[in-house]
Amino acid sequence: MTDLQHNLLGLPPKELQEFFEGLEEKTYRVKQLMQWVYSKHVYDFNSMTNFNIDLREYLDSHCTLAFDLSLRTDVSRDGTTKWLIGKQGNQIIETVFIPEDNRGTLCISSQIGCLIDCPFCATGHQGFNRNLKAHEIIGQLLVARKSLSEEKRITNIVFMGMGEPLANYSEIIKTIKILNDPNGFNISRRRITVSTSGLVPQLRKLGDEVGVALAISLHAPNDKLRDELVPINRKHPIADLLEACWLYAKKQNLRTITFEYTMLKGVNDGKEQAKELAKLLKNKPAKVNLIPFNTFPGVKFEATDRENIDEFRNILLESGIMTITRKTRGADIQAACGQLSGSVRNLAKKTLRQKLKKQLH
Ligand code: SAH
Ligand code: SF4
Repeated sequence: MTDLQHNLLGLPPKELQEFFEGLEEKTYRVKQLMQWVYSKHVYDFNSMTNFNIDLREYLDSHCTLAFDLSLRTDVSRDGTTKWLIGKQGNQIIETVFIPEDNRGTLCISSQIGCLIDCPFCATGHQGFNRNLKAHEIIGQLLVARKSLSEEKRITNIVFMGMGEPLANYSEIIKTIKILNDPNGFNISRRRITVSTSGLVPQLRKLGDEVGVALAISLHAPNDKLRDELVPINRKHPIADLLEACWLYAKKQNLRTITFEYTMLKGVNDGKEQAKELAKLLKNKPAKVNLIPFNTFPGVKFEATDRENIDEFRNILLESGIMTITRKTRGADIQAACGQLSGSVRNLAKKTLRQKLKKQLH
C-alpha cells in the first residue's frame, strides 16, 4: 500500500457513503462493499463482481483494504490467543482473544504505546509512539477473525489492549460505528467496552455520542495515591471523574459502570483503602473488578496475596457493591492485563513527547 492510497477499512458507513457519492455512485455501494469485506472476506476490488469494471479499476488504483499482518501467534494453555501485529518502523502492537463458555472477547489496542505512564503497566513503561488509525484498529479484528477457527466467534470487544482509547477519540468513534453496523461486525454497543484511565472531557463526549459499556481504571480510592498510580489524575481528579461517570450512566441508561482496581501489595490493597473505595461507590451504578497484578520485567510492584484480595472484596460486598476478582488469562504467553508491551519506538524527540503529554496532563 502506498501512502496515497485511501484505506477504506477505516471509513464508517456514513463516510463510505460520502466517498461513493463523490464518485457519483449510488448509496447501495456502501452495503455491497461492506458485504464483500465483512461477510465474504474479500479484500481485492477486482473480485467484487457486482462493481462495474470502471469502478473496480478506480478503486484498485486509488484505494486499498489492506491491513497489517500478524508476525507471530501465541496460544496459551487456557486457549487465550495473542497476535503480534507488525507496524511500520519495526513496531509491534498486540491483540488478544479470550474464549469463555458463552462468549469470545477480543482485546484490542488503540495506540502504539501510551502516554499516561501508569507505573504498574507494561505498555506505560514502553513509552509512546503514535495513535492508531481506525483502519488499523479494524485490521486487528480482521487478523483475529482470519486466524480463529469457526467456533471461536468474536462476540465482545474491549478496548483494553495497548494505549489509552480516549486519547485517540475520533478514530475510536469511527471504529465503534463500523463494529456496530449490521453490515460491519454487527456487535451491539453494550458488547463493546471502552476502558479509560479517566480523560474526563472525552468521557463526557462519549456519553453524549455513543452508549458503549464503560470501564474506569480507578486503582486508588483517593487523589494522593491515584496521582501516583494513574498520573492523569493530577489533571482530572477522582471527584470530577466520578461525576462524569454518573452522568454517563444516566444519559446512556447504563445499569453499571465497571471500576477496575489492580491489587498492588502494600500500596492500594489495605482494609482502610477498601472502606474508602466503598464510600466512593456505595449506592451508585458501579461494580468493581479486582485485577490481580500481572508482573513484567523491570516493574517494582508485587501482587497482593489471594486471601487479602478476598478480604478486600468482602469489605466491598458488605457495602452492597458488586465485586468480582478478574480471572487471569493468558499469563503464560504474557497476554494478561497490563502485560502487553509490543515493540514501541518511543518518540525520540523529548519536546514533542512533552507537548503531547501537556495536552493530556
Ligand atoms: N489504557 C486503558 C486500557 C488498559 S488495560 C486503561 O488504562 O483503562 C486494562 C486494565 O489493566 C486497566 O485497568 C489497567 O490499568 C490494568 N493494568 C495495567 N497494568 C496492569 C498489570 N500489570 N496488572 C494488572 N492490571 C493491569
Ligand atoms: Fe496507558 Fe492504560 Fe497502561 Fe495506564 S494502564 S499506561 S492508561 S495502557
